[in-house]
Amino acid sequence: MLLEQEKDNKKPFFNTAYPIVETFHSIQGEGFWAGYNAFFIRLAGCDVHCPWCDQKETWSTKNYPLLTAEKLLALVQKINTEHIIITGGEPLLHNLDNLTQTLQNSGAKLHIETSGAYPFSGYFDWVTFSPKTYKIPHESIYDRVSELKVVIDNEEDLIWAESQVKKIKSNVPKYLQPQWNNPDSQELIFQYILQNPQWRLGLQTHKLLGVR
Ligand code: SF4
Repeated sequence: MLLEQEKDNKKPFFNTAYPIVETFHSIQGEGFWAGYNAFFIRLAGCDVHCPWCDQKETWSTKNYPLLTAEKLLALVQKINTEHIIITGGEPLLHNLDNLTQTLQNSGAKLHIETSGAYPFSGYFDWVTFSPKTYKIPHESIYDRVSELKVVIDNEEDLIWAESQVKKIKSNVPKYLQPQWNNPDSQELIFQYILQNPQWRLGLQTHKLLGVR
């Protein structure tokens, strides 16, 4: 179950500590920065509830330790990276102002991977926007998008993807990513991109390599 205050997207609140599922040092497997060394911070909590989600263990904030922004900065400073990627769960369920202000002291670029389902917070160098039909994005995301990544499970998702393109800047890189559990989605995307060259194929190369 989510905390009561986390359910209400009209009430962003100031966080000093964050429920953390995991932190790890790896290589970004997808999108524009694929192949780059990065430190990942995975926050708990998501009520978007995509049926094919491969991170269902992140939906609840229960049983995860609360780490302060300073503690997370100390973890980052132990490793050698130029990119910090804040992901989830749905990270915008939390107010990220304090966390991102603190992490700026690391000197690394700050990225977020979000469905945009909650009002935007925090200060980022790169915003990966992955909108979901299961919880319509908050309008505050659209001016901030650095790249668009839409997971495709069926043909209706392609219509959804095009509807989101209309709301972002025209020069934003756009990826269609197969739903990992549906092999048919690969062929659907392949054929669609042949007809719609503004899109790129988005692959989860970390899954192909068997790493996080
Ligand atoms: S938004 Fe992300 S974490 Fe939340 S249910 Fe969908 S895929 Fe899973």
